[in-house]
Amino acid sequence: MSSPVNFPKNPLISLTQDEELFRSSVAEFAAREIAPSWERWDQESSERHVVQREMISRLAGQGLLAMTCSPEHGGQGGTQTMATIALEELAYADPSVGSAVYALLNIGWPFLLGMYGRQEVAGSVIERVSRGEAFFGIASTESQGGSDIANLKSSAAKKGDGYVISGTKSFISGVNEVFGLPWGGGWFVLARTGGPGRAGLSGFAALPKEGGRVAPGVSHSLFEVAGKHSLSTGSVTFDGLEVGRGNLVGEEGRGFYLAMEGFNCARILVAAACVGASRWLLERAAEWLKSREIGGRRLSSYQSVGFRFAELVGKYEAARMMVYRAARLFDKVYFERQPGYSKGDLNAPVAMAKMMGPEVSMEIGQEVMRWFGASSFVRSHPVQRSVLGLLSYVVGAEGAQNVMKYIVSREVLGHDSVRD
Ligand SMILES: Cc1cc2nc3c(=O)[nH]c(=O)nc-3n(C[C@H](O)[C@H](O)[C@H](O)COP(=O)(O)OP(=O)(O)OC[C@H]3O[C@@H](n4cnc5c(N)ncnc54)[C@H](O)[C@@H]3O)c2cc1C
Repeated sequence: MSSPVNFPKNPLISLTQDEELFRSSVAEFAAREIAPSWERWDQESSERHVVQREMISRLAGQGLLAMTCSPEHGGQGGTQTMATIALEELAYADPSVGSAVYALLNIGWPFLLGMYGRQEVAGSVIERVSRGEAFFGIASTESQGGSDIANLKSSAAKKGDGYVISGTKSFISGVNEVFGLPWGGGWFVLARTGGPGRAGLSGFAALPKEGGRVAPGVSHSLFEVAGKHSLSTGSVTFDGLEVGRGNLVGEEGRGFYLAMEGFNCARILVAAACVGASRWLLERAAEWLKSREIGGRRLSSYQSVGFRFAELVGKYEAARMMVYRAARLFDKVYFERQPGYSKGDLNAPVAMAKMMGPEVSMEIGQEVMRWFGASSFVRSHPVQRSVLGLLSYVVGAEGAQNVMKYIVSREVLGHDSVRD
């Protein structure tokens, strides 16, 4: 179907032939398997906290889970640019971003586990994630504040050859999925193994449900959230969850730094989801503005409307370029290992993409709701479902917006200049 918006050509986002083919296949899959169902999934899960097994198995069947993990681990061996393309297309098909965010968490955090986890745990988790039988996300946030990761309180005490994890993680995505999927899964959990501050934190593959068996010492609850219902949000309490040494990811004391690498990966994909949903919003707006007549004229013919549309298309294009710049850089650092590029080069570009993608999508969404007028105020209106899902990325998910600004200012002004 042709787009009602003539998006200008952009040679700066030039994809290889393989990447173009990949985009076509994901777009075709998403139009067939995701677009017709996303509103039903969002509604069902908002009413009854249903785990969307149908959605998850479709994503798995298309090879979109754990897609950047190595094939030895059961992943697809894809690149970050391919994951970015997939996220954009998924969020265009499901602009509540529920299915896109399910995919992005199960791409970004398994990737980290594959890079730094021990083979026996990483291999078995990633294989199950890629088959849609398990979930693997991130659990860092605690009730005293998600931005203050360095001071989080959960602990992991040594016991024999392993650890005992205690603490409560709040606002965690995938709680219902971990306990509802047949194999289970869990999260990259940050817990304190040493003294205060970031150097005392370690990362664990904490798996409250593994091989279909729920471990003792874990409880959870689900939150009634505003949107993006097809992926659950809740809290999980580790009341003495025992894990083996093999569940430690990387070395003791490296958890904070590994989490930052994981966030760099996931934030690119968050921003990609936001631009995918923004495209959907702009297209629905264009159809409406070209057909709705007020005072004998189409809405699109009023300059106040057309000029605003022009502004928003421009912001959308700028955000999209930020996303692809960050994805290409990520590939140079992690996949091509190109000399002259290091992990630190990702910090500002990724934070800029996450700083812009959600804000632009929210600005577009709010304007589109105004253009639709009263009809968009009905709870089931698809534009409203989209805006409420995207809102999660403005209020904090995958890192608060001021934290993104802090990272950019620190990187561009210099570390010493932003500390008093
Ligand atoms: C739908 C949803 C899903 C989520 N999923 C997960 C998940 O799977 N795993 C997980 O670990 N967490 C998850 N989170 C939590 C998310 O990571 C946090 O919301 C985020 O880290 C911010 O933490 P906070 O909400 O506690 O806000 P706070 O950290 O308390 O921040 C409050 C306000 O202070 C501002 N602020 C923070 N630092 C500064 C500063 N230095 N200067 C100026 N202002 C500042 C913030 O921008 C914000 O406006 C999710 C959140 C949502 C909404």
